Amino acid sequence: MTLVSNDLTNHLAEEQTILGIQLAFGATSRPVTDHRTRVRALITDQVSPLVPAAEEERRFPREAVAALGAAGLFHERWSGGIHGDLGRAVVLAEEMGRAGLGGVGIGVGLHLEAATSLLRDFGTSAYAEAVLGLALAGESVCCVATSEQHVGSDLSAVETELTREGTHWRVRGEKWFVSPGAAADFALVLCRGDRGPAIVIVPRTGLTPVKRWATTGMRSLETVRLRVDARVADDAVLVRPGSGLAAVAQGLMYERLALAAQILGALDLASVLAITHLKRRRQFGSPLYRHQALRLRLADLHSRILVARRGLYATVAEVSAGGPASLSDMAALKVTVARLGERVTSECAHIFGGRGYVEDQNPMERLWRDLKVGRLGGGSDEMMWELVAAGFRPDHQLYDHWVAT
Ligand SMILES: Cc1cc2nc3c(=O)[nH]c(=O)nc-3n(C[C@H](O)[C@H](O)[C@H](O)COP(=O)(O)OP(=O)(O)OC[C@H]3O[C@@H](n4cnc5c(N)ncnc54)[C@H](O)[C@@H]3O)c2cc1C
Repeated sequence: MTLVSNDLTNHLAEEQTILGIQLAFGATSRPVTDHRTRVRALITDQVSPLVPAAEEERRFPREAVAALGAAGLFHERWSGGIHGDLGRAVVLAEEMGRAGLGGVGIGVGLHLEAATSLLRDFGTSAYAEAVLGLALAGESVCCVATSEQHVGSDLSAVETELTREGTHWRVRGEKWFVSPGAAADFALVLCRGDRGPAIVIVPRTGLTPVKRWATTGMRSLETVRLRVDARVADDAVLVRPGSGLAAVAQGLMYERLALAAQILGALDLASVLAITHLKRRRQFGSPLYRHQALRLRLADLHSRILVARRGLYATVAEVSAGGPASLSDMAALKVTVARLGERVTSECAHIFGGRGYVEDQNPMERLWRDLKVGRLGGGSDEMMWELVAAGFRPDHQLYDHWVAT
C-alpha cells in the first residue's frame, strides 16, 4: 500500500484539519502529514517496544499512556471545538492499529476517548478537572466501568449502588470486564443512584482487581473483574443520578470512532502483509498471486477496506465541519468496520497457510484473535444495529408514489 507524502500535504496540514486534507487530496490511502509522521515515530520508539512483554504478561503498560500524554498528543486531541480534534483521534488510533498494538491501542483509546471525553464533557468540579488534567498529561490512567455479571448490553439494569452515607457517597459493587482495570488510577463507574444511573469517579484506593481475565486476544489490554468499594465526596459525582446512561452513550460514541480507526489501521497491516506474501510465496511453480482465487479475494477485501476508510474520513470531516455527531452514524461505522475486521484478518491469516496460525511466525494469528473482540467492545453488533435502526425514517410520500397500496 503506497503512502502519499509530499510537501504540499505537509504544508496544508498546518492550515486545515488532518482529515480535511486527506479528503481534499482524494487520496486512496492516508497521506503522511507531519502530524502522522510524528505520531508514527512516537509509537515506534516509545510504545511498540512495550508490547511483547505486555502481551506475554497480560499487563497493560502504563508507560504507553505516559509517553503519548507527555508528548502532548492527548491535549492536542482534545483541543478545539466541541468534539476536540477528531482528525487527531483518528490518526492516533489508525497508527496504533497499523503498528499492530492491539490491546495497548484499545487501552489508550478507552483512556483517551471514553474516559477523557466523559471527564471533559461532564466534569464541573475542581476534582473532576484535576483528574482530567492528569489524564490529558498521561500522568494517570483512566478507565470506564459499566459492565457487571448480569449487566452487559442492557446498562439500564446496572446494580452497583450509589448511596448517601452522611456527608459522603458510598459506591459499592463489582464490575465484570474493565480495561485496563488493574492499571487504572481512576475508574468512571456507572452505578445506580436514587434517581437512576449515575457516573462516579472512583480513585484506585476504592478499586480492587479480583480476577484478570484470560482473554483470547487483546492480552495487553488487561481486562479485569473489579471490586468497587469507595466513599467519595460530592465532587466525585461526575454525572448525577438519572443522566448516567446518556453520558455513557456519548463517551462510547468517541470510543467507537477510535475503535473503527484502530481496526482499519490494523487491516492495513494485515492486508499489506498478505499482499506481499501473495507475491513472495511460491506454490505450483509460481507466486500465490498468480492464483486468481487468492488474488481476487484479497482485491475484494482491499476494496471494502478502502470504502470503509473513506466512510470514516467523510464522517469525521463532516462532524469536524460542524455537522451533527450522530450516535447511529458512529454505531454504523463501528459495527461495519468491526465485522470487516474479523473477516479480513481471518482471510489474511488463511493466505499465510499454516504459518498464519502460529504465534511466532508473523502477526496474523494475533491480529485475528485481537480483532475478534471488536464486535463486542464499545457495544455489540446487535446494539450498534439497534442504534442504526432507531434512526430509520420512513418516507410515506415516496412509498405512495412507487408502491401500489
Ligand atoms: C476484552 C474485553 C474488554 C472489555 N472492556 C470493558 C471495559 O473496559 N468496560 C466495560 O464496562 N465493559 C467492558 N467489556 C464488556 C463489553 O462491553 C461487553 O462484553 C459487551 O457490551 C457485551 O455485553 P455482555 O458480554 O454482557 O453480553 P450480553 O449483553 O449478555 O449479550 C450476549 C449476546 O447477546 C446479544 N444481545 C444482547 N441483547 C440483545 C438484544 N436485545 N437483541 C439482540 N441481541 C442481543 C449481544 O449482542 C451478544 O452477542 C469488555 C469486554 C471484553 C471481552
